[in-house]
Amino acid sequence: MRAACRALRKAGKRLGFVPTMGALHDGHFSLVRAARNSCEGVAVSIFVNPTQFGPNEDLAKYPRTFDRDREMLKKEGINLLFAPSAEEMYPPGGVTWVTVEGLSEKLDGRSRPGHFRGVTTIIAKLFHIIEPDVAFFGQKDAAQLAVIRQMARNLNFAVEIVACPIVREPDGLAMSSRNRYLDPAQRKQALILHRSLTRVKALWEAGERDAARLAAAGKEEIQKESAVRLDYFEIVNPDTLDAISTASDGALVAVAAFVGSTRLIDNILL
Ligand code: AMP
Repeated sequence: MRAACRALRKAGKRLGFVPTMGALHDGHFSLVRAARNSCEGVAVSIFVNPTQFGPNEDLAKYPRTFDRDREMLKKEGINLLFAPSAEEMYPPGGVTWVTVEGLSEKLDGRSRPGHFRGVTTIIAKLFHIIEPDVAFFGQKDAAQLAVIRQMARNLNFAVEIVACPIVREPDGLAMSSRNRYLDPAQRKQALILHRSLTRVKALWEAGERDAARLAAAGKEEIQKESAVRLDYFEIVNPDTLDAISTASDGALVAVAAFVGSTRLIDNILL
């Protein structure tokens, strides 16, 4: 993979990279298209990274649709697809981890201990293999984006990190590979995440700036759907992920909630 990437770059192509866990949807394809629009070479990885899953999470049942993913990526006109096995990425003897301290314990990192250590370790490994000029990440995973930006800065990766907007279903649900887990009733209940964010946005547009009051309104909205269990609802600085007391332009409103046993996340930037 490294040789193939270097050959592309040697041909003068700016190499864009889109890391994914597969089960591709239009959210992923928006990243691929952003990469194609600004880079002459595009590499995509599909790897369900075991180290970012907790012991009681969905690693075994995570959707895997490789043949379909590969065909769709071919149609998108990408140059390279990297889909290594877990054994290849983590041969015996792996004892080195990349940890972004502090940031990794906030938002999803607080609910999913060790999650971001797995994410930053695999992304660092992939950056070393692929050596991209630009890497594309979704705003959907806002905390992940902050953690990766910090890692790239701190470890002097020669890669530009580009964030792409959240792609939603027509009814507002943020696209996610995990939406496949939802039955029709849960699929409707899941809309409450986006609705809670919309409510906060409306209050903010009406002039409310008190972050505690805004967050309370968001939580209240989530409670209206009794089958949905809130994990967190927070208004934070999008770079530090620290809670803020006054919601300013660009503040991140982030929500995570369980619909049945499926954990979903969503967010907006004010
Ligand atoms: P995943 O396969 O879930 O690891 O996601 C791979 C990349 O796609 C990450 O950078 C995600 O943030 C991004 N992504 C996932 N869902 C969406 C979405 N609905 N809109 C935009 N980007 C997304």
